[in-house]
Amino acid sequence: MEARKVFLTEDEMPRQWYNILADIKMNPPLGPDGKPIGPEMLAPVFPMNLIEQEVSTQRWIDIPQEVLGILRIWRPSPLVRALNLEKALGTPAKIYYKNESVSPPGSHKPNTAVPQAYYNKAFGIKKMVTETGAGQWGSALAFACSQFGLECKVFMVRVSFDQKPYRKAMMETWGATCIPSPSPETNAGRDALKKDPDTPGSLGIAISEAVEAAVSDTTGESRYSLGSVLNHVMLHQTIIGLEARKQLDKIGKYPDVIIGCAGGGSNFAGIAFPFVLDKMNGKAVEIYPVEPAACPTMTKAPFVYDHGDTAGYTPLLPMHSLGHAFVPPPFHAGGLRYHGMAPTVSQLITEGIITPRSISQLAAYEAGVLFARTEGIIPAPETTHALAEVINEAKKAKEEGKEKVILVNFSGHGLLDLSAYEKYFSGALTNFDLTDKDILESEKIFEKFPKPQLLKSR
Ligand SMILES: *Cc1c(COP(=O)(O)O)cnc(C)c1O
Repeated sequence: MEARKVFLTEDEMPRQWYNILADIKMNPPLGPDGKPIGPEMLAPVFPMNLIEQEVSTQRWIDIPQEVLGILRIWRPSPLVRALNLEKALGTPAKIYYKNESVSPPGSHKPNTAVPQAYYNKAFGIKKMVTETGAGQWGSALAFACSQFGLECKVFMVRVSFDQKPYRKAMMETWGATCIPSPSPETNAGRDALKKDPDTPGSLGIAISEAVEAAVSDTTGESRYSLGSVLNHVMLHQTIIGLEARKQLDKIGKYPDVIIGCAGGGSNFAGIAFPFVLDKMNGKAVEIYPVEPAACPTMTKAPFVYDHGDTAGYTPLLPMHSLGHAFVPPPFHAGGLRYHGMAPTVSQLITEGIITPRSISQLAAYEAGVLFARTEGIIPAPETTHALAEVINEAKKAKEEGKEKVILVNFSGHGLLDLSAYEKYFSGALTNFDLTDKDILESEKIFEKFPKPQLLKSR
């Protein structure tokens, strides 16, 4: 009988993260003067030990013992064969999902929240400030800060704050404070409220608020933390793909297709980056990051220099972007409502090494419900996008009569997203497909910025 689940022992857990910056060429981040920024410019925002990681080009980076000790609460995470889903689809494909929903906050996000809290604590920081979209990142950082005895403050995008009251309760249970963004507490928040008092908010605005709150703390003991997009976040998430590779090795398999949903790109990078090098070395593997059609950063927006936040506090990053002022429609996958994309993921797209896909809201929920009714676990709305693409691929494998191995990152469960499922069942959810005109309009904003070069890593 073929394995339904593949486990690793705690001793088999990876001891190092994989740093893709050793293997790809990147445009540098730029400061306000259009010149590459030095690490010292980020010092008010992040602790120096994390900044060093952000710019490191060392291929393998040791995971500190204290971090491993906490990750072991739920890691190694299981790799599960989706046999019932395969059967329902009548596909010859073998579908394996890496179950990242087993962490205490219910997603992959603590894989980076824990090391970030560790490095902040080691640097002498007392308080971490962040933003959260769907609430997953806020709860992950709240959990991590509680493990290290750090204070934690979270600006939560208004639309999600209203849609998901229990995420706030979760953060408070771990000792964090959580307020809706835009808030009257910061200049960035006040500006956004002045422009539109009824704004649903956006990750871009919430990032501006959190950065501002962190750097304006005169004690110097606060730092900002970001749950996706940045190089060090992608680095910490590679534990997912490194484990998955060992698990597949154990059963003598290698993926033909790797799929992950992508908001800022971190859970996708986590599962995919350890396989990207193989692909650059000639291995035949298709790698698909999946985004919502309502926020088509990778499939429709250009590769440009843009700010990571709405107020323009962050450096200019080379990435696919819909423009930092873009406020996505309030579709129900808060973690995928971001205007930009990780520079590393964006670079791989420009080189054609990975191929983005987009999924409409209704197709995503349909896939989520099928997964719940076959495999049992109710997926987070973000995760359903990846699952919809898995189903597309499994159907394609059926048409072609091919026994493909599909590896997907199951980024989180949806047990705090049930109000969105309720809306889906009542017929209240619709598709929000953006027109090319909407996109052109939002993009005028970076006409004045320098353009990144098209670099070839190989
Ligand atoms: C935050 C989140 C995402 C999207 O963020 P990435 O950085 O792109 O991974 C996807 N799935 C879940 C469950 C999330 O919480």
